Amino acid sequence: MYWLSTKQLVFSSRGGRNVKESQNLFYGRRRCVTIDREITLKEVLIAREARAQSQRELMRRLGTALISFSLNIAGPIKNNALLRRAFLEGLKRLDEALTAAGLETVERHQTDSPTGCEALWAVRGDGRQIKRLCVGLEDRHPIGRIFDMDVLDPVHEKWNRADLMLPPRGCLVCGCKGKNCASRRLHSVAEIQQVTTNLLRNFFAEQDRCSLADLASRSLLYEVCTTPKPGLVDCRNNGSHCDMNLFTFLDSTCALLPYFRRAVSVGQETASLPPEETFLQLRPDGVGAERTMLQVTGGVNTHKGAIFSLGTVCAAVGRLWNPASFKWNISEILRECAAMTRRAALAELDTISPDTASTAGNRLYIKYGIRGIRGELAAGLPAVEQIGLPALNQALTDGASLDEAGVSVLLALMTSVTDTNLIARGGMEGWQWVVRRTRDLLLSDIPPDQAASVLDTELIQRNLSPGGCADLLAITYFLYFLQHTSPCQVECVS
Ligand SMILES: [Zn+2]
Repeated sequence: MYWLSTKQLVFSSRGGRNVKESQNLFYGRRRCVTIDREITLKEVLIAREARAQSQRELMRRLGTALISFSLNIAGPIKNNALLRRAFLEGLKRLDEALTAAGLETVERHQTDSPTGCEALWAVRGDGRQIKRLCVGLEDRHPIGRIFDMDVLDPVHEKWNRADLMLPPRGCLVCGCKGKNCASRRLHSVAEIQQVTTNLLRNFFAEQDRCSLADLASRSLLYEVCTTPKPGLVDCRNNGSHCDMNLFTFLDSTCALLPYFRRAVSVGQETASLPPEETFLQLRPDGVGAERTMLQVTGGVNTHKGAIFSLGTVCAAVGRLWNPASFKWNISEILRECAAMTRRAALAELDTISPDTASTAGNRLYIKYGIRGIRGELAAGLPAVEQIGLPALNQALTDGASLDEAGVSVLLALMTSVTDTNLIARGGMEGWQWVVRRTRDLLLSDIPPDQAASVLDTELIQRNLSPGGCADLLAITYFLYFLQHTSPCQVECVS
């Protein structure tokens, strides 16, 4: 089952009927080793000979065409986390292209060693057709220039671009056709490495912006669809709201997708600046997003709080973004939110006077010193970290679905958070009543969804709506998605 005889880490799978399992082996349960060291010419030559031998053996045994896929990487370092990610991107697209063309992959072998990631796939089909498909990926995928997809078959042996009447590939650095640049060494290794790194960095930056914006929008959709929610718009009713319904939220969420992508982008672009600078640079985009929201909802405030809070979290994630992986440390993200907002948000509160307090939140700060979502962000969203996420994980552990778990999260938040939306509508008494009533219901034996239904009726009667807690529920969902989503599941295709 192994196609390299050295001590390299080798994966392989076979069987055309069990492609699903093979894909899991590649994408789902992939084992990785960190290989980021310079290799010697001897190692390159050994790997090349081993590859040729494996190709011969596999072709002799199966009699099919082969795709031998590796990366074109200049210099002595042939493998690291970023290159591995690029390789997996190529494998995924190759798999999609073969499937779309109806070509059956009967055996897959993959290696991950200091000399680079390599794949050898046996494919049933015409070598010319397979070569054309591989050339399409090399030429049209945004990082296809570093893909090296050789195609061989038992009759023709190696297929070249010239066999398809196609010109040779262009130079990675200057785009010139042919091997002139390489043979005359017109570009230094450092220059080629820089171009390669920039290519990969820009590609994954855009791919991850799309993925993260998708997750932010998804978290808003999960929040509004979580049912029943006391006093809030959900799939059952409009709660205590007469000017909006589920569809108003769907319209607003779709319109905010570009804003979340932009928020991540602002974080990525300002990552080297002090955190406060990111927050300041996000502000004009936040103002624009509010305007867009009001346009699509006919002047209704569906997501003003989420634009501020979830947008800030997206920018924090952008600051911490790493092109080599899509793994996130939640505590680190929340600390970044605090660092970004602490000074600016609190300084803004200091400027509020009784004469200038135009919003409900500002009036509550003047009257009671309540800092609302600005204070929550400046503290690193403790309600999300200490209440929201633990409640979500506990409910899921107890067997709840994400929807059901969301109800438990909302109720838990309602027992602790100083919700300025509740106070704005019902005064301090109204908010305190909601906190007490929610605690009492949770302490009784009533299941969470029934408790939420009881509260829904009671909050609608009192015209109360815990919108602040709903925003924190959306952020809880977002952070949960970050922890449990791989980029393969959410990525956009550039
Ligand atoms: Zn060139």
